[in-house]
Amino acid sequence: MAKITSFKYTIFLSCSSILNLLFFSHYLHGGMEQSYTKNAAAEAEAVAAISCSGHGRAFLDGSILHGKHVCECDACYGGPDCSDFLPDCIADADSGDPMFLEPFWRKHAASSTIVLPGWHRMSYEFNDGSLISKELETQIRKLHAVIGNAVTDGRFIIFGAGATQLLHAAVHALSSNDPSSPTIVVASTPYYPVYREQTEFFNSEDYKFKGDTSLYKNERDSQGNFIELVTSPNNPDGQLKKAVLQGPSVKTIHDLAYYWPHYTPIPAPADEDLMIFTLSKLTGHGGSRFGWAILKDETVYQRMLIYMSLSTYGVPRETQLRVLKLLKVALEREGKEMFDFGYKTMRNRWRKLSETMSMSKRFSIQELEPKRCSFHQKVREPSPAFAWLKCEREEDNDCNAVLNSVNVTGRDGSLFGDESRYVRLSLVKCEDDFDLLLKRMQILVSEENDSTKIMPQNKTTVNLSSPRLNACSNWDHVTSKFHLEELTTDIRDGATMPAYLQ
Ligand code: PMP
Repeated sequence: MAKITSFKYTIFLSCSSILNLLFFSHYLHGGMEQSYTKNAAAEAEAVAAISCSGHGRAFLDGSILHGKHVCECDACYGGPDCSDFLPDCIADADSGDPMFLEPFWRKHAASSTIVLPGWHRMSYEFNDGSLISKELETQIRKLHAVIGNAVTDGRFIIFGAGATQLLHAAVHALSSNDPSSPTIVVASTPYYPVYREQTEFFNSEDYKFKGDTSLYKNERDSQGNFIELVTSPNNPDGQLKKAVLQGPSVKTIHDLAYYWPHYTPIPAPADEDLMIFTLSKLTGHGGSRFGWAILKDETVYQRMLIYMSLSTYGVPRETQLRVLKLLKVALEREGKEMFDFGYKTMRNRWRKLSETMSMSKRFSIQELEPKRCSFHQKVREPSPAFAWLKCEREEDNDCNAVLNSVNVTGRDGSLFGDESRYVRLSLVKCEDDFDLLLKRMQILVSEENDSTKIMPQNKTTVNLSSPRLNACSNWDHVTSKFHLEELTTDIRDGATMPAYLQ
């Protein structure tokens, strides 16, 4: 009997040990977690594998038709797999959506993917009661140190839902809080339209948008408190800018959305009182709605913090996790790969457009000089985010209407506080968008040259005096492929576009 009992105990102990071992190994290898990430990964990869012919993409949260995710096509492509080119479609160069970086992120899909379990940071706050990830803040400081475009040592950092939210928080924080003498908000023409639109929309008693900075340059005109918005490089014309107004009653907001090596040579780290940056122009993730401000003054910082907590109570933790991952990838190899890709893409686009426009007398684009870049440690060609196109003929005072005649639309210069003979053309969209824009502009210029019989017969007649114009001309592909259409009625009016689609 004792023998049987001892045998039973041995069996029981052995089974228990085996079960414990199995359980422990299951736990060690991530058990449950591993299976759910596997499912999530399989789902994500299945959608990523859907072919959209290189002219579109399918998303997990996109529409589903007959049980399958639908391709979301680039603007001028259609059909179930985006393989149909739509020849009548409008080359929309209106919005500044920086999709040009998408190929970089596709290449780095593995390293930039995050996993978000259902229980990820559900709380309103981080453990220390704050609304920001310290790790992300550290990563942002590291990013600026590596790229050398801003000083962050001893500065405060605030996160916002894109630069858009931070701009208004900054105007609020710097305004004098005195309705009897509202702070005057100004920007140098041509300026980013949101400065005016946002200030007018929020219609505060404490500050009013009053247009072009130059109106207040003389001391006798500059009674009162001012906030000057300085955009460098400027949207729309890509020029590096400095503040115009000086003095104790002037506060300055430096919008450095484009102060990255993709768009401009970086002469030196910016060290301004209040600087605003955005993820959208850095990595291309406009949809993640993430920006940050770097500040010297603690009181202004506190006022901005109050604005943030009362408007959105911080930036979603999902976004912060994603941004942390994206910045880590952006900084791999000291940022070399992403910033080289960004710069080369933008430089090539600028070269091609400049070359085309150099053959025109009817149109011109802004002059930008090559400059030394401290990040690349060499002189760099211009690579701006936008072309600031001017219609030179007296009668072409509505330049966007001229462009509409070849199915191109840009953003009307009047929105930037300038004349309508200027149009901003976005160069940051995806490759398909840029290619179509370039082809249509080539058509417009070739028509001009045909009609005035000055169309160059060969490449040697092209003016290559400017260093930015030295790429070869290829007119062969321009001719028959695209049909000129009458202006269609559904051309989107730049003036009615929502401002946040900049
Ligand atoms: N500032 C400038 C100069 C911009 O061009 C933009 C967007 N195009 C913004 C701010 C807003 O950026 P975000 O997408 O981060 O709101």
